[in-house]
Amino acid sequence: MTEPLIVLNPDMRVRTANAAFYKTFKGTPEETEGFYFYQIGKAVWNFDELRDKLEYIFTGNKKSESFELSLDFPQLGNKTLVFNVMQLDHDNVKSSRYLMAIQDITDRANYLRELNSNKEYFRLLVQNAFDIITIYSVDGTIKYQSESVERVLGYQPAERVGKGEKEDLLHPEDVEKYNQMFYRCLSETNGVVNESFRLRHKDGSYRLIEAVFMNLLENQYINGLVGNYRDITEQQEVARQKEEFIAIASHELKTPVTSIKGYAQIIREHYLGSSDTEVNGLIERLNIQVGRLSTLIENLLDITKITAGTLELRLTDFDINDLISELVEEWRKTTKIAIITELQPSEKIRADRARIAQVITNLLSNAVKYSLAAERIIIRSSFTESLGNEKARVMVSVQDFGIGVSIEQQKLIFERFIRVKGETTDSIPGLGLGLYISSQIIRRHEGAIWVKSSGAKGSVFGFTLPVENQGAEAKKIY
Ligand code: ADP
Repeated sequence: MTEPLIVLNPDMRVRTANAAFYKTFKGTPEETEGFYFYQIGKAVWNFDELRDKLEYIFTGNKKSESFELSLDFPQLGNKTLVFNVMQLDHDNVKSSRYLMAIQDITDRANYLRELNSNKEYFRLLVQNAFDIITIYSVDGTIKYQSESVERVLGYQPAERVGKGEKEDLLHPEDVEKYNQMFYRCLSETNGVVNESFRLRHKDGSYRLIEAVFMNLLENQYINGLVGNYRDITEQQEVARQKEEFIAIASHELKTPVTSIKGYAQIIREHYLGSSDTEVNGLIERLNIQVGRLSTLIENLLDITKITAGTLELRLTDFDINDLISELVEEWRKTTKIAIITELQPSEKIRADRARIAQVITNLLSNAVKYSLAAERIIIRSSFTESLGNEKARVMVSVQDFGIGVSIEQQKLIFERFIRVKGETTDSIPGLGLGLYISSQIIRRHEGAIWVKSSGAKGSVFGFTLPVENQGAEAKKIY
């Protein structure tokens, strides 16, 4: 038998043991048979608790008993053993013997101990997590909710289990997006869905919740949707105050800066070309810096409008190539870099001319700013006819041979306040708003904006616009 077995007399002398016993506990028949059990193998079995148990069985003439002990063996280390003791020939008291089977359950005991401590570990982790962790069944009923629900929403988990949020906590205006989030999550096994909505605190106020939902219906342990909720009410308020500050500050700055710009232009018209070269230089610099300041404020005001969803488009029909030529002419006056145009004839497009001019200006200004010692910039336009469902489109691109944009940065630079950090870029002024505003303007026109760059060879920034753009007027961006 693979299980260690030993036969003992009632006086605890060993009669015999099987091979499994010798193998498991490292002994030989010569140093075992005929000896007292607690003396064999250099007294490795000499444990008081084991002796007490066996004495109790033998003196009490018990027929069968089993018990579990955790014993520290000098060589084998700690072992958890189950002893099954059975009296043989119990009719004959004189020659009665006991068969003892010893089962080593150390691995199983350790596994269970570890499992329990892991269970406790995760229970404490979930219980003390700042976010609320909830498991929902397919109909949205709460199966489990972590204790942080009390900290965030004022309820005990027991008050919420068995209920749904839609019925009593969800803000009525957010029901639609909550439903959509739920169905989106249901339709994708292991899919992750993000959403934010308001839930009512026990005190009646609403908290803004940022939720991440995951479909673990096919997971045999969870068998539900798992929601992770974070209370972002305070962050939202701080973000709102920041937006409000930017809006007020840029609005208040606009009037004086517009006046200064006007005065600077008057000075330029009256005094530029005077015999004093130092004054000429100062006047030029004054105009450049005032122009930069006024663009900055315009950008901040645009950001405010985009955030509030109030960026209006004034659509007119115009020729994009005329616009490009006008802008390039202006730019040629202010930069030494050659600006080459490669313009393909196109139809007139319907778009907001001033806003598209703003986008092209931004791309040209970046191409100049991030070109360093390069000698040229190429601006191109092209036109694709409508094909099947595809609308006719124009494409404008600006190619520079400057510092380029890495692949990782390409994904980020259309976000607001993103600037690439680096020795060269740090000394170039900018707030990281231009491309964000440009991308929003192009989006409003139902167009697309993009960048292609292979590192040090420079970059190509471009956008496409539908030629027809009736739909854009009605749309707002959020
Ligand atoms: P700003 O130029 O004011 O910082 P933008 O939103 O126009 O803001 O551009 C965001 C960032 O993208 C810039 O800070 C720069 O790091 C990078 N970038 C934009 N255009 C170019 C270009 N032509 N070449 C290299 N990097 C560019």
